[in-house]
Formats: sequence, structure tokens, C-alpha cells
Amino acid sequence: MMGSMGRLLDGQAVAAAIRADVLPGVAEFTSGAGRPPGLGIVLVGDNPASEIYVRNKVRAGTESGVWVDLQRLPATASIDDLLAVVNRLNISERHDGILVQAPLPEAMGRHAAQRVFDTIDPDKDVDGFHPANVGRLVQGRAHLAPCTPSGVIELLDRSDIPIARRYAVIIGRSDIVGKPMAMLLLQRDATVTICHSRTADLPEVASRADILVAAIGRAGFVTRDFVKPGAAVIDVGINRVSDRATAMSLFGPSSPRLADFDRRGSVVAGDVHPEVAGIAGALTPVPGGVGPLTIAMLLKNTLAAASARREGR
Ligand code: NDP
Repeated sequence: MMGSMGRLLDGQAVAAAIRADVLPGVAEFTSGAGRPPGLGIVLVGDNPASEIYVRNKVRAGTESGVWVDLQRLPATASIDDLLAVVNRLNISERHDGILVQAPLPEAMGRHAAQRVFDTIDPDKDVDGFHPANVGRLVQGRAHLAPCTPSGVIELLDRSDIPIARRYAVIIGRSDIVGKPMAMLLLQRDATVTICHSRTADLPEVASRADILVAAIGRAGFVTRDFVKPGAAVIDVGINRVSDRATAMSLFGPSSPRLADFDRRGSVVAGDVHPEVAGIAGALTPVPGGVGPLTIAMLLKNTLAAASARREGR
């Protein structure tokens, strides 16, 4: 396998296909209900990465015929201010889905995100983070599953990468990516291992995986020695690299990505080192891999929430 290039999994194309599948459902809902599916997005503060994510979500929703209502709160807002907005959206007839963009300002306290997840109406919880939805996911009867991991499943399916009977290793155990990813892969009959910062012999464990998911938050952390030749490698990481030496070590001296860095002063990198392309059987790029899928699944969940509410399910 040395030197050969794995297949690049085009998240953008798969996301476009999912969004195309959602369109007729949105049209049907809109004509039946006399209003489009409604998605409330709450953005607190002015974190630059969050601004970009939210802008992309608003655009994608609007393009798909969803009514997107962006509610902004200043960085100085209290957790009670935020919960008041969530409660207002909970009782609104026009809002079928509610998403509170992470991360919340640190001043809101360590448990702020959990309090928000606990407060969102589970039927409107398009992120799938409410404990009731987490419980349903664990029991294999999720109605609204978290967008990033369910996007990864769609990508594997639509790329004809088998899951059943395969050995899947996930690096990262967060509530929003790692843990729900493990549950979804388990439901599809993969044999699943979850790794984290205290895992012993991590490269050795990872290098047994047929499907390796990296959700760590460290640019280029997963190097060749983590990867079995031919494995499918899913890179969830989105990391801003603003140090030229790091960008150079990731992308090499004459790469277009380093040229991007020199133009902009920073570049986005995944958790998987680009050298892995030479050993993996299939690999998601960053950007253009898992990111667009997350947004497509948000639209799918919004339509699902809207339809279920309308049918009184
Ligand atoms: P968290 O910081 O919540 O979790 C990171 C996980 O990685 C933790 O479980 C942590 O272990 C583990 N980890 C950290 N360092 C190491 C290490 N040295 N060795 C092994 N494991 C380690 O991150 P998220 O899950 O929220 O996000 C992960 C990445 O995915 C980020 O880059 C984020 O930006 C990106 N992301 C991308 C999305 C998309 O749409 N593509 C959506 C959401 C996130 P421990 O628990 O022991 O601390």
C-alpha cells in the first residue's frame, strides 16, 4: 500500500444527495401545514468559528425551504437569559427544531451546556442531546440522533463501505460525537472500541480498525502508525492551525494548503495527518468531509421533528 492513495470520500457530494432527499419532504410539509418547517438557532456571543458554522446552517436551511430563525444573545448573557430563549422556542408553534450552538461562553459555567440540553423539548431536539434522546439512542430507537455521527453513518452507507461485522475504533468519547458514534456503529453490527486520552497503546488499538473514526480535536494527531492498510478513516476533527511550522509539518513545503496558510495566516486541519492518505483505503478530507454531512443531517432532523410534531407522534 505504500505510496498508493486511498479513496477520498466526498462529504460534500453525499451531503448534497441527502439534502436533495430532504427537499420533497420539506415541500410536502409546507403545503400540508401551510408553513415551512421551522428551525430556531441560538447563538451566544461572537466566537468566530461558531459564526461560520451558524452562517452555513442558516444558508443550508434557507436553501432547503426551512424557515430558520436565528436568535442572538450577547457574550455577556446569563444562563437564565439563554434558558428563557430556549423555553420560548419550546412553546412556539412555528419552531419545530431548536439548536443552541456550542461552545457557550465559559462565564455561563461548566454545566451550562448540559442545562441547555436538559431544557430543550426532546421533540424539538434536532441535535439529539437531550437525555431522553440519548437514552433512546442507546436503546436503538432514536428518533433524533446527533447530526455528526449519523452523518458519518450516511457517508459510509452511501460510499458502500460495509459496517456489519467490521471492527470500528473511535478515538474520542465526547457526548456529541464519540459516544453516539459508537452507539450508531454498534446498532449496525460493528464491533466497537472507544478510545480516549487515557487509552493504553492507542496506535496499536487503532491500527486494528477496519473503520477508524477520529474525533479528538488535535490537528494531525492520527498518523500512519494508527492505521491498518486499507482501513476507512473518518476524520471528524476541525482544528484551526495558526502556526506555520505545524502547517508545514502537516501539509509539506509545496502544498496548496501551505499556500492557503501563507495567504490567510491560518488553515483548517483535521485530526488525521495527511500522510494517512497513503495507507488508508478511504479517507474523508477536512474541510469537505464530515462537516457538510453534519449540516445535511440537521436539515433531515428538522424535517423529521416537524413531521412528527404535525402527526402528533
Ligand atoms: P471533545 O474535546 O469534547 O472530546 C475530545 C475527545 O478526544 C475526548 O474524549 C478526549 O479524551 C479525546 N482526546 C483528547 N486528546 C487525546 C489524546 N491525546 N489521545 C487520545 N484521545 C484524546 O471534542 P468533540 O468530540 O466535541 O470534537 C472533536 C473534534 O471534532 C474537534 O476537532 C471538533 O472541532 C470536531 N467536530 C466536528 C464536527 C463536524 O461537524 N465535523 C462536529 C463536532 C465536532 P478524554 O475524554 O480522555 O479527555
